[in-house]
Amino acid sequence: MHLREGDLRDFMDKGKHNDAAQLYHLPFGDETYVADTPGIRELGLYDIDPSNLQFYFREMAEFLHDCRYPGCTHDHEPECAVRAAVESGAIDAERYESYLRLLHGEE
Ligand SMILES: [Zn+2]
Repeated sequence: MHLREGDLRDFMDKGKHNDAAQLYHLPFGDETYVADTPGIRELGLYDIDPSNLQFYFREMAEFLHDCRYPGCTHDHEPECAVRAAVESGAIDAERYESYLRLLHGEE
């Protein structure tokens, strides 16, 4: 399955201006949901490949292609544009930490 990044961005933008907890039914797969609850900064993840995780964090999307290495997980790789954005404040550090927790499958 191949999704253009713009497809997913358009989809995720639908809920952009709503502060309430949101449950996204992704446009692929029958049982794939992402619950995004900005108020308590928790994100439930179900049936999503960790390598696709980065695409569910809307604020990270614009930085993904600036990473030095293809397949960057934005964890420990050098010259990672996402980590640079976290350090500069462009990406919320708590959101980035949520990403890392989900990436590593930890509570
Ligand atoms: Zn990266």
